[in-house]
Amino acid sequence: MNADEAKRVIADFRARFPDPRTIRLYDLRPDQDVFVRCPCGRVVQYQYGVLQKKHRLPSDMLVYDLRYRLRCECGKWRGLGVEITGAANAGGNPTERIEVAPLEK
Ligand SMILES: [Zn+2]
Repeated sequence: MNADEAKRVIADFRARFPDPRTIRLYDLRPDQDVFVRCPCGRVVQYQYGVLQKKHRLPSDMLVYDLRYRLRCECGKWRGLGVEITGAANAGGNPTERIEVAPLEK
């Protein structure tokens, strides 16, 4: 995605979801990934569609609620942070970062 296109999709998405807690899985764009961080330090990346297909989560689920539905390998399910990244540049680095749920330490 070139820089102008990235700016446009980022601004559009922000305008649609001024409160990131209202974003649902079906709202995500194919270029967006979900990152779940645990207070233990582990980070898991879920690419587009994986949470529905592999983890059988409903598409209308709030991304925010992943903090209650997922569990880290360490056994923790409290305090998980949830972030959406997207609009990667030519180098593959995301230029969009949306904190949906804060990591609690
Ligand atoms: Zn953990």
